[in-house]
Amino acid sequence: MTATPSPIRVRIAPSPTGNLHIGTARTTLFNYLFARHHGGTLILRIEDTDQVRSQAHFTENILSGLKGLGLSWDEGPDVGGAFGPYFQSERNDIYFKALAELEAKEQVYPCFCSEADLQAERQLAEQAGTTYIYSRKCSQLPQAEAQARIESGATPVWRLRVPSKAVVFDDLIRGRIEIQSDLIGDIIIAKRDRSPIYNFAVVIDDVEMQISHVLRGEDHISNTPKQILIYEALGATLPAFGHFPMILAPDRSKLSKRHGATSVGEYLDKGFLTEALVNYLALLGWSAPDNREVLALNELSEFFDLDHVNKSGAIFDIEKLTWLNGQWLRQLPRETLLERLDPWLEKQGTPAAGFDRDWLLAVIDLVQEKCRLLPEILEQAQFLLQAELIPDPEQSQKAFELASAKEVLSAFAAAFEQLDTWTVETLHSLFEQQKSQLPYKMKEIMWPLRAALTGRTAGADLQQSLFLLGQKRSHERLQSALSQLKG
Ligand code: GLU
Repeated sequence: MTATPSPIRVRIAPSPTGNLHIGTARTTLFNYLFARHHGGTLILRIEDTDQVRSQAHFTENILSGLKGLGLSWDEGPDVGGAFGPYFQSERNDIYFKALAELEAKEQVYPCFCSEADLQAERQLAEQAGTTYIYSRKCSQLPQAEAQARIESGATPVWRLRVPSKAVVFDDLIRGRIEIQSDLIGDIIIAKRDRSPIYNFAVVIDDVEMQISHVLRGEDHISNTPKQILIYEALGATLPAFGHFPMILAPDRSKLSKRHGATSVGEYLDKGFLTEALVNYLALLGWSAPDNREVLALNELSEFFDLDHVNKSGAIFDIEKLTWLNGQWLRQLPRETLLERLDPWLEKQGTPAAGFDRDWLLAVIDLVQEKCRLLPEILEQAQFLLQAELIPDPEQSQKAFELASAKEVLSAFAAAFEQLDTWTVETLHSLFEQQKSQLPYKMKEIMWPLRAALTGRTAGADLQQSLFLLGQKRSHERLQSALSQLKG
């Protein structure tokens, strides 16, 4: 890899035309990790030139979503910096000035061709079976004539005078890329009102903000040669370029809404942890040098480099993300987990404040092992958190139909009542004793018990569960099941 120029200044430039997309989150993460790894600066710039589709609430969603993932930037609309403004919509004067400079250097020319003129050119190319490139008709207009037409009210677009040459760049991820500028033609860089076209604004901003590395998704790779031509016209130093592989659906098509959730918020709403999401996003196109998979943000910053970013598309695998989430559920301190569960507990009408904190922590400990998503914890612990038992009808029926049910429940009810101290240990001995006395197999004992006490035939460790459920509630549940069986 080529030596990294210093100082390192990278940027992310989201367009606020939708909620925070996982692709934007991944690009931000990679830029963040690159900046942190190399002690560089990360700049966040909002590309809101599309006035119709850009909306303030999307900007808010993107900024808060990125912060929620634990990411931060050194310059941006919310934190300021020496190279602002950081909203493109506030930078028009800068773009106008740059256009005027290119005009003065005759690097751009006004194009008066109408839409109909261009359409006719396009058709000719189509008939000839060639790629359409603008004919450069207006580039021949004498300057005085162009000036006169503008003075009499014509509003041209502005085209870059593109020299015929090979545009070459060494992509930090994809290697050498080369394209003949003749296949690009004299691109439009400013509209009839002199406002910049996307590629022009991006280059001006990247030059003005002294960006050293432009690291973005591969969907922008076709813009890069055009942008390089603009840098050259401006006489500006080129940054290094690197394009991250696309995030693909399992069928290898571009990930889109029809494959499921595409915004970060939707994943958080499903009960994924920010730690797991960040960890998974990092693995979308990158792998750690030692192939470790469960990595926290600080570890990712330590290990991340462009050398280990892949060229080929990264498949978004929900199973892998869910697995990672399970790893993180077990890895996070249970106090943190309780904090994350807070809104979920609130939402299901059993707020954390209604329980003893240590008891809640013990409940988390009990069920966490088998869970992969936050709401699964609530589901597994439902029989403890909800005052009333909410039985699974099928499982209860299956258990209570067993010939052993009535006798098992009666025997345990009597034993529960007589137990002096209610601890996990005394419960273990009680179970051992009952099992040796009852003439039934394991399943014939455990199914009715579990169904009566937890509403299911399987779940977390039963003695631990009962300890947390308490003697009174456990006894009541057996009695209630017995009366149901007798009725
Ligand atoms: N605004 C572009 C996007 O949201 C980013 C452009 C760039 O990184 O150059 O995809």
